[in-house]
Order: sequence, then C-alpha cells, then structure tokens
Amino acid sequence: MSAQPVLRFAPSPNGELHLGHALSALIGFDMAQKLGGRFLLRIEDIDTTRCRDEHITQIFEDLAWLGLKWEEPVLRQSEHFGTYQAAANWLKRAGLLYPCFATRSEIAEKAQSAPHAVDPDGAPLYPGLHKHLSAPEIAARLGRGEPFALRIHMDRALNALEGMTGSRLVTFTELDEDDRPQRIEMDPAEWGDAVIVRKDVPASYHLAVTVDDARQGITHVTRGRDLYPATSLQRLLQVLLGLPEPVYHHHRLLTDAEGRKLSKSARDTSLRDLHRQGLDALQIRQKVGY
Ligand code: GLU
Repeated sequence: MSAQPVLRFAPSPNGELHLGHALSALIGFDMAQKLGGRFLLRIEDIDTTRCRDEHITQIFEDLAWLGLKWEEPVLRQSEHFGTYQAAANWLKRAGLLYPCFATRSEIAEKAQSAPHAVDPDGAPLYPGLHKHLSAPEIAARLGRGEPFALRIHMDRALNALEGMTGSRLVTFTELDEDDRPQRIEMDPAEWGDAVIVRKDVPASYHLAVTVDDARQGITHVTRGRDLYPATSLQRLLQVLLGLPEPVYHHHRLLTDAEGRKLSKSARDTSLRDLHRQGLDALQIRQKVGY
C-alpha cells in the first residue's frame, strides 16, 4: 500500500446520477480528505452501447456542484481496452480462462432444464456448456468467426489461489460504518465460471475494475453494499494477477419509499433535476443523511 491513501468514485455514464451516487461520491471524497489522501474519478464506460458522452459531461457538472474536486486526467475505461486484454491474456496463458461460444438463450435453456444455483447477481451459474470443448472444436469455431466470451475456470483458479495463499477462500479488510476494520473471508466459487471478457467488448466490469484499482494505486475502495459480493471475484483476480489488496468500505444504500434501491430511471432523485430545482450541496447532504 502506498504511503498516501488513494480513493476513487467510479460511475458508469449510462444514465443520470441520483442521490445514491451522491452519497457514494461524498463518502469517498470525505474519507480521502479525512485520511489526507488523493481522490480520483474514473469513468466506467466499457459498455460502449449504453454509455454516452453527455452523461459524462453531466457527471462532471453534478460532482462539481456537490463540491467535489478530483485529479485530472480522469481515466476513461473505454480508452484502455488494451490493458484489460493484456491482463486477460496473462490469465489465459496460465490456463485459467476458456472460450465460451454459448448464446444467452442456450445458457438460459440449459440452466432451466437442470435447476441450477444462481450467482450473487441472480444470474444462473454457468452450466458448463462449453467448458470441455476440444482444441480442434475451439479452433473450428474460431475459424468460423463465432463470437465468444472468456470465462474463468473456477476450479483451476481456486487451485491456483490455494497454491499461492494456502486457502480456497479470499480475504480482505472491510471498514464498518464506524471505520473499524473487520477481516472478511469469502468464497469466490459462488460466482461459478464467471465471464471475465465479454463477447461484445474486450473486458468485463470485474476485470476492468480490478486492473484499474491497481493501476491507479487505489488503497481504499468505497462503494455501495450492492457491490459487496463482487469483492470475492475481484479479490480472486487480484491474487491471480499479483495485484495489491485495497481496503474496502461498502456503505449503506439509499432506498425509495417502497424500500427498493434507487435506480437511474428514478427521476425524482436525479442530481441534475435537484440542481435545477435550486437545491445546494448542503441540502443534498441532508437528503442523503450524510
Ligand atoms: N461502475 C460501478 C457502478 O457504477 C461501480 C464500480 C465500483 O465502484 O467498483 O456501479
């Protein structure tokens, strides 16, 4: 861990920021201030079909309005696909990734015919369709130009993890609401053979976030509790890629009147709209109870 703490806020520009994002950004920014650390903004726009430049411009405006300051230049993930590919190639050479040509519907059909467990995102665990394709079959499909994702071979990855750490579980330090550190143990196997490189873009959320947290020297990952389960897979990738381990703080989520997590389509909590209505940063802090 570097001497000076480094924190980040990492929004995806696929919609307007809402009060939940404001809470997350403020928690990260305030913790950076408190620790005498640096604060970075990272634009997570690998999903090039859903992310829009106008949302990025709006993110800058919203965060400046909240009183946040961040270092320039801002890292935009869509400009760094080569780095994610290099990390994926490394894992592939170590025999930890395999190509999966299956379509969504094939996976859904297979998962339906044999009831399968679901991953922490609620998606069916990969039913192993293309796990054991022979080398000639893979070559033939590649030759035909069939699109493919790269999935982690979880059993092998856990073997490698055990060889490196002596355990098939990952560990990390989580700061609770009172900043007390707790050592957490988690099982990455709950993700099954997760997609590490998507079919449509040469990266995935888990791979890009892992590579970038290391590349930017992030020492403290602050984000919402909805991403708590993602930490097991990201810690696994960190160990396999030989990357440093940050400290984590997964904060409370804001919910709507029905108790649902706020979404980007919930217009009444859009930061842009609240700004237009004449609210100021202090009122936003009051609204999010922070
Ligand atoms: N880009 C992710 C999101 O907007 C956050 C990633 C992270 O903080 O690890 O939900």
